Amino acid sequence: EHNLGTRNNYRYASGVGRIPVGIGRKRNRIVVTGGAGFVGFDLVDKLIARGDDVIVVDNFFTGRKDNLVHLFGNPRFELIRHDVVEPILLEVDQIYHLACPASPVHYKYNPVKTIKTNVMGTLNMLGLAKRIGAKFLLTSTSEVYGDPLEHPQKETYWGHVNPIGVRSCYDEGKRTAETLTMDYHRGAGVEVRIARIFNTYGPRMCLDDGRVVSNFVSQAIRKQPMSVYGDGKQTRSFQYVSDLVDGLVALMEGEHVGPFNLGNPGEFTMLELAEVVKETIDPSATIEFKPNTDDDPHKRKPDISKAKELLNWEPKISLREGLPLMVNDFRNRILNEDEGKGN
Ligand code: NAD
Ligand code: UDP
Ligand code: UDP
Repeated sequence: EHNLGTRNNYRYASGVGRIPVGIGRKRNRIVVTGGAGFVGFDLVDKLIARGDDVIVVDNFFTGRKDNLVHLFGNPRFELIRHDVVEPILLEVDQIYHLACPASPVHYKYNPVKTIKTNVMGTLNMLGLAKRIGAKFLLTSTSEVYGDPLEHPQKETYWGHVNPIGVRSCYDEGKRTAETLTMDYHRGAGVEVRIARIFNTYGPRMCLDDGRVVSNFVSQAIRKQPMSVYGDGKQTRSFQYVSDLVDGLVALMEGEHVGPFNLGNPGEFTMLELAEVVKETIDPSATIEFKPNTDDDPHKRKPDISKAKELLNWEPKISLREGLPLMVNDFRNRILNEDEGKGN
C-alpha cells in the first residue's frame, strides 16, 4: 500500500482522531493525463515540488518529452506513453484529466480523434477513478458556452453551441465529457471536480501552437506582421498559466464539484491584444488581417464569482504582467532555433 510510510507515522490522540506527524500532509499519488502539454507540465512541476508522486500519461500528440526532461531520474516521477482512448490500469489517489489538444488548429486536425479523446478518454479515466476510488478532475473549457448569448459567462449558462460545425468535435466533446463526469458522480459516487478553463497563455507554449497569444508573440519577435483574424473586434480574456494551475489545485483539494470558471476576467479585443504585444515586444510591430475561421465565438469573459467565493481563488497576474514572462522564454527559443539554422 502506497501510503504505508505515512500511515505508520500517524500518532493517535484521544478525541481528535489521527494527527499526521511532520508537515501534516499526506503524500498523494497523482496521475496527470496530458501532462506533457502546455498546462500539464506546469501542474506537474507544482505537484512534484510539493512532494507528491506523479505519473504522466501522454501520447505526445501536442505534448513534448522535452518539457519533462528535468524530472527524468526523479524517483517520484514516471512518464507513460499511452493514448487515453485505450483503457489503462493504475493505482493512484487523484486523476487530473487534461489529455486533449487545446489549440483549434490541433483539435480540428483530426476531429474524430478529438471526439474519441474527449469521450472514450474521459470514460476510461472515470472507469479508472471508479475502480480505485480516486478523485477525478476534468479540465473542461469555456468553449462549452459556444458563441455565448450571455456576457460575461456564469457557470449557470447552458451555452450556445453549434453541434455540426468545425469546432464541435472539441465543444461537444467537452460537453459530453462533463456529462460523463456528472453521471459517474451521481451514478457511481466518484468524487469529481470540473474546471471550465478560459484562454490561457504562458512560457513553454509551442512556438507555432496556433493560438492567438503564441502566434502574435512569435510573429512580433520574428519581425513578421501579427495575423489578426476577421475584423479583430472579437474578444477573449487571457489568463496566465500559473494562476490556472493554482486554481486547478485549489479545486481538486476543495470540497466543491463545480463546474467552476477558471479564467482572468480582463477582456481584450484581438486588436487590443496586438497593441499590448506591440508595446511589450516591438513598437514597430505591424498587423495584417486574415479571414476568420468558422464559428469563431464573438466574445468571451468569465464571471469568476463562484470560484472566488467557494475556492478562495482569483487570478493574480494581468496580461501586461504575464506577457513579458512569456516573451523572455519565446525570445530564447526563437534565438536557439535561428542559431540551429545557422542564421
Ligand atoms: P496541449 O495541447 O498543450 O496539451 C494537451 C496534452 O494532451 C498534450 O501533451 C497531448 O500530447 C496530450 N494528449 C492529447 N490527446 C491525447 C490522448 N488521446 N491520449 C493521451 N494524451 C493526449 O493543451 P493545454 O493547453 O495544455 O490544455 C490542457 C487541457 O486544458 C486540455 O484538456 C484543454 O482542453 C484544456 N483547456 C486549455 C485551455 C488553454 O487555453 N490552454 C483552455 C480551455 C481548456
Ligand atoms: N477502465 C480503465 N481502467 C480501469 C477501469 C476501467 O481504463 O482501471 C475503463 C474500462 O475499460 C471501460 C471504462 O473505463 O472502458 C469504463 O469503465 P466502467 O467500469 O465504468 O464501465 P464498463 O467497463 O462496465 O463499461
Ligand atoms: N486569432 C487571431 N489570430 C491568430 C490566431 C487566432 O486573430 O493568429 C483569433 C481567433 O480568431 C479567435 C481568438 O484569436 O477569435 C482566439 O483564438 P485561439 O485560437 O487562441 O483560441 P480560441 O479562444 O478560439 O479557442
